[in-house]
Amino acid sequence: MNCLECAEAAKTTAAIAVCGRCGAGLCGTHLNEGGETLTVMAPIARQVPVEPLARRVRCGKCESAEKAQAAGRARGGRV
Ligand SMILES: [Zn+2]
Ligand SMILES: [Zn+2]
Repeated sequence: MNCLECAEAAKTTAAIAVCGRCGAGLCGTHLNEGGETLTVMAPIARQVPVEPLARRVRCGKCESAEKAQAAGRARGGRV
């Protein structure tokens, strides 16, 4: 698989990761790697975070969308 972002710029670069949201192939330049907190359910229907963080890989578009969603959530908007 090749990097989708590079392909859109008419370049061919081997993908080294895949966006966990949209499935786009990504090269080292275009991937956004971060940590994602996973949770377990504790009584009663309460989510508790677990360690360590899971790996999280997103393409540029999904990274922007998730940042916008987090910003909306921070403002108290309903998601
Ligand atoms: Zn790329
Ligand atoms: Zn994506």
